[in-house]
Amino acid sequence: MTTRWVGTSWKMTKTLAEARDYAAGLAEALAERPELTRDVQPFVIPPHTALTTVRDTLAQTPGGSAVVLGAQNAHWEDAGAWTGEISVPQVADAGARLVEIGHSERREHFAETVQSTGLKVRAALRHGLLALLCVGEPEEVRAAGGSTTFILDQARGALDGLDDAALGEVLLAYEPIWAIGEHGRPASPEELAGPFAALQEEYGGRVRAVLYGGSVNTDNAAELLAVPGVDGLFVGRAAWEFQGLVRLLQ
Ligand code: PGA
Repeated sequence: MTTRWVGTSWKMTKTLAEARDYAAGLAEALAERPELTRDVQPFVIPPHTALTTVRDTLAQTPGGSAVVLGAQNAHWEDAGAWTGEISVPQVADAGARLVEIGHSERREHFAETVQSTGLKVRAALRHGLLALLCVGEPEEVRAAGGSTTFILDQARGALDGLDDAALGEVLLAYEPIWAIGEHGRPASPEELAGPFAALQEEYGGRVRAVLYGGSVNTDNAAELLAVPGVDGLFVGRAAWEFQGLVRLLQ
């Protein structure tokens, strides 16, 4: 059985105290129930401010070593005059083993492009981190039947030119924009079939895993995971309490 990846980005939420409580609660739950992580790889992606707090709390709490820690973004340059940015070596130094790249909120509000996501994937891999590349189409593209073409363009634009060893350090997340957040609705298994068939045809067995994200919760997780080609789940709101993530690991 291949490892299922199930994790969460906290987006722009949580104080350091909340981050510590979450990490400790999650680690303790995993220590009590090691069977939860036998075939599942949990991951947590806090805001940059909380990386070291989560790293240290996981390191100090039994069960914590089962969790992969990630950063929500990192710049493609290693260092320099980039005010407000944080580099891959910096997030790695703070404990991240994975970098999320190209979430639709960053593409929309921070002008991420296929060029910048491609550079960021390469920066993550250059420093030995996993790259979690998010792709996903807006509602009007879905309505026009263009989902698969759109997401393949995003994926190819960032990943073309990588050899198989590099692709093996990449996770892909299909996150349709119309499915994300409180104004979104979860994709139905029927709506996922085409995009996942296409992503698996192109990247199956080459990337580490292909995940689904967008309004995942405990009610729909099982049916979404049952869609052929879905190797895991990338969760927002439903896993912002550690108990939510624990439920989704089961
Ligand atoms: P959501 O967020 O689960 O809150 O819809 C998903 C995401 O943006 O990855």
